[in-house]
Amino acid sequence: MKYKKYKLERREKKRIKRRLLRFLFFSGVLGIAVYMIFSLIVGKPQVENLRDLTMIPAQKDITLRLKGDVKRATVKIIQEGKEFILYDAPPIQGKAVPLDLVVKNMGLKDGKAQVFITLRYGLFGKKTYHIDAWIATTPPKLEVVSYTRYIPQGGTGAVKVRVKDGYGAYLEVGQERYPMYSIGKEEYFTLYPVKVDQDPATTIKVVAYDLAGNSTTLLLKTQIKKVEFKIDRIKLSEEFIRKVIIPLLGRDMPPVDAFKEVNENWRKTDVENLKKIGSNSIAKKMWEGNFLQLPGSKVVSTFGDIRYYYYQGKEVSTSRHMGYDFASVENAPVPASNSGVVVFTGNMGIYGKMVIIDHGFGLMSLYGHLSQIKVKKGQFVKKGEVIASTDSTGLALGDHLHFGIMIHGIEVNPKEWLDAKWLRTNINRVLEEN
Ligand SMILES: [Zn+2]
Repeated sequence: MKYKKYKLERREKKRIKRRLLRFLFFSGVLGIAVYMIFSLIVGKPQVENLRDLTMIPAQKDITLRLKGDVKRATVKIIQEGKEFILYDAPPIQGKAVPLDLVVKNMGLKDGKAQVFITLRYGLFGKKTYHIDAWIATTPPKLEVVSYTRYIPQGGTGAVKVRVKDGYGAYLEVGQERYPMYSIGKEEYFTLYPVKVDQDPATTIKVVAYDLAGNSTTLLLKTQIKKVEFKIDRIKLSEEFIRKVIIPLLGRDMPPVDAFKEVNENWRKTDVENLKKIGSNSIAKKMWEGNFLQLPGSKVVSTFGDIRYYYYQGKEVSTSRHMGYDFASVENAPVPASNSGVVVFTGNMGIYGKMVIIDHGFGLMSLYGHLSQIKVKKGQFVKKGEVIASTDSTGLALGDHLHFGIMIHGIEVNPKEWLDAKWLRTNINRVLEEN
């Protein structure tokens, strides 16, 4: 009995052991299978912006963007046996590896270097990238050749620079950035707007940069002068809203709402559209001498005028007049104020039927409230060539030409551009100086 019992117990134990082994084996296989399927779905991790590491300037902040589930990232840079660890930790939120590259802190010099990025993922996954990098720490040499010294609010400035060992340059006026155009070997030029409300303390600086990302900055000693703009108070009649505003809107609205919709919302959209059109200018001077006023016309509105609108004795809206209004006879022929390429023809909000001509280096002229447009987009027009007729399309009280000058899509004071002497001293001289 005893022996039999012992035998039974042994058999039982063996069976349990076999079951356990089988269980362990199958769960292991299952685990591996699940892991493999999971890995297949998740895939190997990737670095999305490897290219950012091919050129290394004196100083650069780069954040490597990762795709996939990365547990740890190691980034090191090697040059002639010297090694420098840039990062060795889990990525931030599993996705970002911030690198603060300061070449002199890494003990490296200009020339070739190797960057290795190792990503650890899953259970034992490991992927290594190798990049041939080029270290270049010498910043470009920047010299200001000539610039406009003095600019009133709403005016235009020009600047010409020389850049050695660089790739390009741009201009910063406060928060705004404007491109500089290459005008031959190592020389760059641009025009730029000073806004009507530009703070006279705004800093204006030129930045030259190279392909690696090194840059050199110089401040311009340009003075911005405050301008007292004219104030106009305009009474809105019920008739004007019924005959001009409602047909322009194409739907009925209460009078004040209708006026505000056109004067404020349409205007805002127009400003955005002009900025887009104005950002695509040819890098070539196409203007010849001063811009032309509409022949035989009177100036009925000037640039920068602040307008307050009243309806039934109450102030209801305000705006700025961003151009010159020229009034002549009805349907007067409108000549191109200067030579250039037509970049826009058609309807635009408050401007009605409009033509825009590009004169190069960010300078454009615009003609609003027109009818009978005679030119096409892409066409070159000579100064004085008739492009359309005056009318009162868009937001206009009567037949007149709204003439505007834009620099990089921002309207500036056309008065300067109508003045041959101003144009010679402030713009052409800057462009021609060596
Ligand atoms: Zn106008």
